[in-house]
Amino acid sequence: MGTTNNGFKELLKEQLHKLFPEAKEDGADANTLINCPLCNMEGKRDNDRHMSICLGDDGKPLFFNCWRNNLHRGILNSENLEKLASASTTIPDAGFLELLDEYNRRSGKMNRYRLDSKGRYNIGLVRVDNTEINEVKRIYICKRLGLDLPLEELAKNKIIFSIKDLLYRNYIRETTRAPQIMELLDKYYVGFLTNTNGCIILRNMVAGKIPLPESIADRYIKYMIKKGAPSGYYIIPTSCNLYNHIDIHLAEGTFDILSVFYNLRGANRVDNIYGSIGGNSYLNMMEYFLSDLGIIDPTFHIYVDNDIKPHVLPEIERKIKPLDIEVYIHANSYPGEKDFGVPMQKIQEYVYKLF
Ligand SMILES: [Zn+2]
Repeated sequence: MGTTNNGFKELLKEQLHKLFPEAKEDGADANTLINCPLCNMEGKRDNDRHMSICLGDDGKPLFFNCWRNNLHRGILNSENLEKLASASTTIPDAGFLELLDEYNRRSGKMNRYRLDSKGRYNIGLVRVDNTEINEVKRIYICKRLGLDLPLEELAKNKIIFSIKDLLYRNYIRETTRAPQIMELLDKYYVGFLTNTNGCIILRNMVAGKIPLPESIADRYIKYMIKKGAPSGYYIIPTSCNLYNHIDIHLAEGTFDILSVFYNLRGANRVDNIYGSIGGNSYLNMMEYFLSDLGIIDPTFHIYVDNDIKPHVLPEIERKIKPLDIEVYIHANSYPGEKDFGVPMQKIQEYVYKLF
């Protein structure tokens, strides 16, 4: 993609500046900012460049997004560009419009959930050795899900068996924890690499059984591959065409979402996204998919814990309903279970439409 992409990016910028004289790139040169033509058409004068148009770095789709009105968003194809430029004194170049649609056709087919370079660490997943300790970890994970999956299958999901191995084989020599802590992390924890590749969420397999130093004694801790990097979300790698309808499944914990993926959704890796919010909020993660990734036509499925706080769903309704996006709530009504992080026999899925 690299060089052809750059050529296209320059053409796109040139075209935008021609059509929108106030156009200006943001500090990262990743977006062009213009006065929102749709706000202007609706009589809500914009003089502060509320519309940002993504320039397609890292294979991102070319979406436009107005920060004042959530309905002013979409993919920049020839039709939309003509619409945005309809009040402009110049018209879009016909040759460019063709190029634009061609670009969209190509990038729409790309796999968005390959490991990206956003966290500046382009981490490659490594082969997991069939060692005694990895077998203990494999059994631990499988038991929680009620499944029998081979190591390679688990590794495909960005499950990390050995941090030291992962770092070593990616030529990362610095660690962000002391050596004796690193030993313990490899021995007693199983990890989940987040979408930024900057962080590994670690589950303590011996919590309450084997005493560990206080700094790592919690059930869940984080290992930062790069200090200060955003920790991100755990998202199971799948393949999506951003122009298709996409079902986005969100659960609280890593085991919840793995169980949803395998036990309820048949491990379907096409046009489906599975993410765990970790300590974050559902709403933040939903906004990440809409604003950062520019997914056009999603349906959200939220697999709630039974002890979900009462303000969470009304807040989602307030923010997401105006966007005309459907949200379904899934709960596990099996007696005595509070979430989905359990084997299939202990799941009784109850679904309703939030709006
Ligand atoms: Zn607008």
